[in-house]
Amino acid sequence: MKDHGREHCGLIGVWNHPHAVDKTYLGLYALQHRGEEAAGMVVSDGREFTVWKDLGLVGDVFSPEALARLRGRHAIGHTRYSTTGSSVVANVHPLVGRFGADGEVAVAHNGNLTNALQLRAALARQGAIFQSTTDSEVVLLLLARARGRGLADRLRTVLGQVRGAFALLVLAPDSLVAVRDPQGFRPLSIGRIGRSTVFASETCALDQMGARHVRDVEPGEMVVVTSRGMRSSRIPSISGRELPAHCVFEHVYFARPDSVLYGEPVHLVRERMGEALAREHPVDADCVIAVPDSGNSAAVGYSRASGLPIEIGFIRNHYVGRTFIQPRSAARGQKVEIKLNVVREVVRGKRLVVVDDSIVRGTTARARVRYLREAGAKEIHLRITFPPVKYPCFYGIDFPTSKELIAARLSVARIRSSLGLDSLGYLSVDGMLSAVGRPPSHFCAACVTGRYPVPVEAAMRKEAVEAR
Ligand code: SF4
Repeated sequence: MKDHGREHCGLIGVWNHPHAVDKTYLGLYALQHRGEEAAGMVVSDGREFTVWKDLGLVGDVFSPEALARLRGRHAIGHTRYSTTGSSVVANVHPLVGRFGADGEVAVAHNGNLTNALQLRAALARQGAIFQSTTDSEVVLLLLARARGRGLADRLRTVLGQVRGAFALLVLAPDSLVAVRDPQGFRPLSIGRIGRSTVFASETCALDQMGARHVRDVEPGEMVVVTSRGMRSSRIPSISGRELPAHCVFEHVYFARPDSVLYGEPVHLVRERMGEALAREHPVDADCVIAVPDSGNSAAVGYSRASGLPIEIGFIRNHYVGRTFIQPRSAARGQKVEIKLNVVREVVRGKRLVVVDDSIVRGTTARARVRYLREAGAKEIHLRITFPPVKYPCFYGIDFPTSKELIAARLSVARIRSSLGLDSLGYLSVDGMLSAVGRPPSHFCAACVTGRYPVPVEAAMRKEAVEAR
């Protein structure tokens, strides 16, 4: 069981490129960390769509034969981890519908719609038939019913009804539309490859696609790309909140450190978090080690601010995918840690500062502390760049229920003793937000503060807290 929140997905869009399929594939590969359950691609030749999607990693879903079947100069792609809807092919994005004069339309979504259950119930009363159990399908069904001149006009009507977190790519035969919700919970960037326009959830994908990062899609912006060029407009906001609410956990854990997120390089933000952590929780120790990969940048910052040397204490096995099967010994309670191995020569007899990004259930942290002890560590001082996670996320990150969140049940002192640590220090909310390079009021930190920037419908809270 993975002991982190999990991301909903990653998006790629390409408009008017002769190698749109290859570019989308490369982009999806770079966004694999944002969703490991399924992947899909819809490609348009300006008249018809070809679609390929399946459960699995990007490299498994898109065989050379599958890629060869996809033809056209325009494409959208998606990597998925389900936060709503189960893991079946019907739920894999992009979702495709056919609407009268507009022809086919494909939708790829990153985030969670906080009023999806309400909208779904209303659509069901009108006789709508659902093909999937994802919240994103309501966008497609509302689009089919919306009035307006052309896709952008109809989409604007739909976006006046949905609430919550959405970065969307919508592909039609004559246009590609990119939208971010008015709070900009999830990232979405615009790039250029020559005269082609591309979109990606993270800029690391633009790099892989050979694209230049032009700018981000702004919170509340709709960008429409057609053969006549790119047009930008604002979408209606129904949340009642005017300020952005970027997900701060993207900076702490999800985004790749080689991405630029909300205008700031992730690596530098994490370094600053590590520096703040050293100031807030100093300790007399021999060296700093990171829990790779997401702890690496913060460990550099901690080392710099504390003056303690940084060492490589864990080695990561990069070949562990979702296909790894725990051997039968796991059934006897001897879980095998295959992902990280301790470098005994580094940790033996040392007083260690261990820097990690977050503690969710505490199961992984407890196991790693045990491995470090077994390798001869003298003292273990765990330092965490994300404050204690106590509340669920309704905006596209899948944390376990409150019952399973260790910080929702135990004080920091109790967590320290439960994990077998000599000391434990979490970065404060203020310390974390001081590192992000933008006004703290422009970020969401609801999973640590309990202050939700956009209202969540009661049924969704109940479902997320009790039933997941
Ligand atoms: S609740 Fe937490 S994980 Fe969810 S959007 Fe806000 S900061 Fe991100």
